Amino acid sequence: MAVSQSANILDGARIAAEIQAEVAVEVQRLAAQGIRPGLAAVLVGSVPASQIYVRSKVQTCEQLGIFSELITPPATVTTEEMLALVAQLNAREDIDGILIQTPLPSQVDKKLLDEAVLPEKDVDGFHPINAGRLQAGQPALVPCTPAGVIEILKRSHLPIAGQNAVVVGRSDIVGKPAAMLLLHENATVTLCHSKTRDLARHTREAEILVAAIGRPGFITPEMVRPGATIIDVGINRITERSEFDRFFAGNAKREAAFASKGSVIVGDVHPKAFELAGAYTPVPGGVGKLTIAMLMANTVRAAKLRRAIAG
Ligand code: NDP
Repeated sequence: MAVSQSANILDGARIAAEIQAEVAVEVQRLAAQGIRPGLAAVLVGSVPASQIYVRSKVQTCEQLGIFSELITPPATVTTEEMLALVAQLNAREDIDGILIQTPLPSQVDKKLLDEAVLPEKDVDGFHPINAGRLQAGQPALVPCTPAGVIEILKRSHLPIAGQNAVVVGRSDIVGKPAAMLLLHENATVTLCHSKTRDLARHTREAEILVAAIGRPGFITPEMVRPGATIIDVGINRITERSEFDRFFAGNAKREAAFASKGSVIVGDVHPKAFELAGAYTPVPGGVGKLTIAMLMANTVRAAKLRRAIAG
């Protein structure tokens, strides 16, 4: 198996910064028309990781000139109370986008909430109407992470049309919309999942391989076609020494991080598999960086769509 000597590392931070700079220009353009896009971020309870994500989303809004409001219902909130909150936000003229951070407490019915958010304020792209529009190839608010996957490929000038693209993972949030977006870009798409027979037979055919599985280092070198573009969506925290060694034995930088924090993040692709790639997104520093940038882009898009402003 030929090992690529110079796999191209796709820098998510750089691409995210580029998108955010474009969003800031767009926000200024809207400001000249007296419009300020607004995002409501709903953070239920006090899950530490969610607090970090939401804080970072609100901060990015501030940096780009987008209005944001953080709403923090307690962990005991009911579905009915959440539906009432969504109805208020739907009715507010100053709010263009509604974000409900997950995970939600088990008593809250997430599906009902997803359907309660007005499709035109659904900046996460989770409403069935937006999912349907995406499938039909109509203008839609598209889920942020898969939208980020396409931006990485396009802005890195990697070919999509005609390529064999294999997506592993079929969640409504990542895998399914990623497959649909790749199809709209004229890739030949295979969508794999936990019931797929002989997964490696499919992944070895992939010129573009998107891993969105939620299992650390699941895609191993034997599953990769040399020279493939690998997009690793996975974010998995490793705390066990044995697991750490399985992925990062001999990696001084990761060793130092593990020693100081007691954990490291690994994607759904084994680091050894990246050595075969033509190009790949690192974890961290790849797709994850795009998710907030695409949320900002969606918020501005929602502000424009709602007011029928073109562009
Ligand atoms: P889900 O758990 O919702 O979906 C996982 C998918 O992987 C399912 O479709 C499942 O198949 C499939 N799968 C699980 N095991 C296997 C297997 N052995 N073989 C083949 N397929 C398998 O996860 P998400 O889509 O929400 O997230 C996926 C990953 O992406 C996670 O690591 C998550 O942390 C990360 N993520 C990263 C984001 C970012 O900003 N970078 C944003 C969102 C998620 P089946 O349907 O048959 O069960």
